[in-house]
Amino acid sequence: MNMETHYTLAGIMGWPVRHSRSPVIHGHWIREHGLQGNYVMLPVQPTQLPDALRGLKALGFAGCNLTIPHKVAALALLDRVDPLAARIGAVNTLVVQDGQLVGYNTDAEGYTQSLREAQPAWRADAGPHAGPVTVLGAGGAARAVLAVLGEQGAPEIRVCNRSRDKAEALVAEFSAHYPGTRWLTLPWDQRDAALEGCAQLVNTTSLGMTGQDALDLRLDALPHKALVCDVIYTPLETPLLAAARLRPGGSHVTVNGLGMLLHQARAAFQHWFGLLPEITPALRRSVEATF
Ligand code: NDP
Repeated sequence: MNMETHYTLAGIMGWPVRHSRSPVIHGHWIREHGLQGNYVMLPVQPTQLPDALRGLKALGFAGCNLTIPHKVAALALLDRVDPLAARIGAVNTLVVQDGQLVGYNTDAEGYTQSLREAQPAWRADAGPHAGPVTVLGAGGAARAVLAVLGEQGAPEIRVCNRSRDKAEALVAEFSAHYPGTRWLTLPWDQRDAALEGCAQLVNTTSLGMTGQDALDLRLDALPHKALVCDVIYTPLETPLLAAARLRPGGSHVTVNGLGMLLHQARAAFQHWFGLLPEITPALRRSVEATF
């Protein structure tokens, strides 16, 4: 066996990148399946991104993940971009295919699967979980969430962000891709009222993350049957999710960000290593041990 041709190399490119749990996740699967390969940290400053991406091919990488701040900037530097990633406007997974650098977005798949873990029959367009959705935030994580909701035919999406111009720009972009959805933006100071009649609430801001301010939000207007999601995974239960779980009058079903993180990794792993690994309790324990 030729060692060079059977060794699969992938990694995560970001700046900073040390906080990333992806090496733990992919390393677990590489060992579990006895694969020849490695998944490494690739700290790359924004100015070095074009050179670093060119270097992937030269170094024999199967591809890499991208994280802050490269997910949007990389779009213009690739040979090809998958149509879903183009609609999302961000790539988190690069694959070297026949000498070409191809961009995908597996964050959307990650979010969808995290919802289906909590509600196996979840659909945005019909059934008990359909209805308006309020999305807090308009950054990178919001893009993947909005694409999932648009792809799945959510009837109405209300985007509420501190900087309203960013919410408006995002809604202009996504309403062109998903015209069947009614798209609205709401001022940040109306976020409590934005929850009225919603079937789902998603926090995609960094508020509530360890080391950040808490999200100041009153859930009174939110119907009790609404799904409450937070893309944050440190802590696993943000103050928002705790408030939703403990809400007087009935607990909400809640979804934390760990499922999205694990499922986006699973889809990326399949691109590079050619097999779809499992998300086992042992893997969850390994990742949770890093928090
Ligand atoms: P961005 O920097 O792109 O966006 C941050 C968002 O948070 C913006 O909407 C910003 O509003 C808002 N925000 C930040 N501070 C405040 C504040 N003080 N008050 C009100 N709003 C605020 O970050 P990302 O979208 O990449 O990440 C957001 C969170 O999602 C992080 O916690 C990250 O860890 C998590 N994440 C989880 C993933 C997963 O797989 N589970 C994947 C990706 C991210 P404004 O526009 O006004 O600045």
